[in-house]
Order: sequence, then structure tokens, then C-alpha cells
Amino acid sequence: MRKLPSWIVLVSIGAISCAPDAGSPGTVVYEGARLIIGDETPPIEDGVFVVADGRFVAVGARSEVTTPAGATRVNLAGKTVMPAMINVHAHVGYEGYTSWRPENQTSENILDHMQRAAFYGTAATVSIGTSPTELSLQFERDQRAGKFPPASRYLFMPGMAPPNGGPDRVLREATNVLRVVNEVTTPDEARAAVQRMVSQQIEHVKMWVDDRGGNYPKLAPEVYEAIVDEAHRHGMTVHAHAIRLADQKAVVAAGADVLVHMVQRQPLDEEFLALLREKRPYWATVIGLGDTPNGVCARDPFFEQALPDSLIAAIRAETERRSLAANCGPPRQARESQMAINFPQMLEAGARVVLATDTGIHPGHTFGSGEHVELARWVQLGMTPAQAIVAATSRPAELMGLADLGTLAAGKRAAFIVLDANPLDDIRNTRTISSVYLDGARFDREALLPRFKGMDPTP
Ligand SMILES: [Zn+2]
Repeated sequence: MRKLPSWIVLVSIGAISCAPDAGSPGTVVYEGARLIIGDETPPIEDGVFVVADGRFVAVGARSEVTTPAGATRVNLAGKTVMPAMINVHAHVGYEGYTSWRPENQTSENILDHMQRAAFYGTAATVSIGTSPTELSLQFERDQRAGKFPPASRYLFMPGMAPPNGGPDRVLREATNVLRVVNEVTTPDEARAAVQRMVSQQIEHVKMWVDDRGGNYPKLAPEVYEAIVDEAHRHGMTVHAHAIRLADQKAVVAAGADVLVHMVQRQPLDEEFLALLREKRPYWATVIGLGDTPNGVCARDPFFEQALPDSLIAAIRAETERRSLAANCGPPRQARESQMAINFPQMLEAGARVVLATDTGIHPGHTFGSGEHVELARWVQLGMTPAQAIVAATSRPAELMGLADLGTLAAGKRAAFIVLDANPLDDIRNTRTISSVYLDGARFDREALLPRFKGMDPTP
């Protein structure tokens, strides 16, 4: 092959992939891509956006955007750009590639998870209910202070449950070791726990309302009503885990801001739908990972690229083992049919879907890819791709109070995904990631891959 003159190589690197590093003062004009803004507005064909100091300065159609002279120009013709995603529901820190245990809770492991989330296009990730408070708050402070390399922004949310209630058995055992769940029995204890969170500047809280088929104590109504009341008194939002119709009704009636999970085995009723129409809660569906952990059972290279072969083999073995069990036979089909009815009913009634994955909750539920599984699941159940992108970007930003993320708009941080194909045509095109940008800087995905792929099994 003919060797190119070195100046051509330099120019093409400059034009295609070389944006300034974080903090560099250069202004960059990105031109020619289809822009999916992330709100309800239609996409902009042949769009142009300008980034300086890590933020969008202008975003629009080519005819509307004035581009500064002397700026670096990046040609994105043929590409589609969407905002980086925001995941409001993951369980960070326990998973360590082939191990899954409380001892993995270190800032190094949190950073690894946040880098894997960023690799797959997620700009902020909420660890909900199961992370150790002090370690998490310290990580948030250190990340804000710029002590870590670029990664998804880590957001900590504590959880509340009765003693020995809350997370499922696997996660319960791990959280018990670290004593991370705020255990409350009475309304007074609930209010005191919320007030402690307020004193730590915590703005969101999770509560579990679930007796796990009669095996767990369940938060009493007067206790969760006290949680919601005390939280709202201090401007906090409440995410409520509930999986049965009666519990979902009760927590929405009590004023929970976010309904976590989906009723999958019971039909909904008019009373619940009327309640949704009245309260319009956010809805963290969390339906993707339960079906196809990491997409690995689908043998999709998009998911396998960032996992060691030993872990892929382990996940596959576990998936095959489970598919022999009853939950993959006829009962699962019954559940599927019920979900196909319930999901559009929830949407129609006004439940406001937000991206939530439960990533990290069990061994093998690894970080990053679950977001793409969840989006595809929504569309399969009746959402449009445009609605799915709103639910993964601007809406979770609004819910979590992240005013600087969630859309392609002047003033926001330049956190975006460049795609080779249009996800409005097929939501699975969110997997055609060409590059990810955080704070206006290209996230170096290639540099992380050898570590992701080559991570040794931990005994
Ligand atoms: Zn969860």
C-alpha cells in the first residue's frame, strides 16, 4: 500500500478524531450530522454545533449557526449525534469482572464501572440504594474535583427498608456486610433517617416496598408515607421499588416521585391507570437485564468487546442453566404477553419513563451495555425510538436535577454520542457507536479496551 505523506495523516486525524483535550481552550465546530436533540423536537438534518470549554455554545441547522473563524472543524457527515445517556438505576461497586462481592467496593472499582458506562455512551449513572455512603460521597467529591480520568458521572442515592428487608437475597447478603441500607421500623425513625440524608446534601432516596413473596418484612404504609412526606418537605425525590399492583398503587398514591419496576404478571386496573393519569410519576421500568444479561446470550460483539472471555463464558453458562428452568418456558411467555399489554397502558396513562437498568445487581450483570438493552426493550413493547431517546436523556436529567446534561443545547456540557447509523430508524442503532464525548473531549474508548477485555479472573 502506498504510504501517505505525513501531512495528510495529520490533517485527517485533525479533521476526524482529534478534538481538544478536556480544559483546552480551543473552539470546535462539528458539522454535517443528523442531530437528535434529546427533547421532543424533531431531529435536525445537516446540523452544526459549536463546543468551547467543554460546553455547547450553539446547536442548530447549518443555516442557523454562526461558526467562529479559526475554530477546528470536525466533519460528521453521515453520522447521527444524540446526547449521552443518563441511567438512574444501577448497583455500583459489587461486580469486579468475574467476581461479585462487597470487598469490591473501592473507588478504583467505582471508577472502572463509570468508565465502562462512559464507553457505552452514558454520561451519568446513579447507584441506587446499595452503595456505602461515605465511600460514595467521597467519590462524588473527588470526581467533581477532577481527581479521576474521564468517566460517567457517579451519583449516589441511599436506600431505606425495614430491618432485613429491601434488596433481593443476593444483594441483601452483600449489603448486610457493609450495612448500607437505612433500616427503619417507625415513622419517627424514617423521618430521622431522611433528615440525616438532608444534612449530607442528598437529594434523592430509594425505598423498597416489597415482601418478596412473603419472605421479607415490608415497609408499613405509615412508614413509607413518612418517608415521602419528610423527603418532600426537604425538596427530595423518592424512588419507590414495588412490583405488585397493590404496592405500586399504594406508593403512587402516597406521592412517590418515581415508580421502580413494572407489574409483569398481573393485569393493571382502572383505579391504577386513573392514579397514573392524575400523578404522572416518573417510571424506572428496569426490564432489560432480567431478560438478556448484557446481550451476551445474543452473542452480540457490541457487548462482548468489553468483557473478558472467561466472564462471557460464565454468563453464557448461567444463562443456559436458567433457560432450563421454568421461567423460560410457558410462564415466561405469559409474562411477556402481560408486559405487552401493561407497558403501553402505563405510557398512555402518562407514566414518564426514565432509563434504569439494575446493572451490577447480580454476578454477570456488567456495566455499560444494559442501557442499550433497555432502550430496545421499550421499543419492542411499543415506544417509538424518539420517545426512547427522550427517556434515556433529557427526562432522567430533569428527574435527577442535572441541568447541565441531557440535551444538545447551548450552555449544556458537551456530552454526546456519535453514531454510524440512525437510531430513529432502528433503536438498535444506538449500538453503532463511533465515538463518545464527555465535557467536549473525545472519550478514549480504544485505550480502555485492553484492560476491559484482558481483566484477569479474581479468585
Ligand atoms: Zn435495583
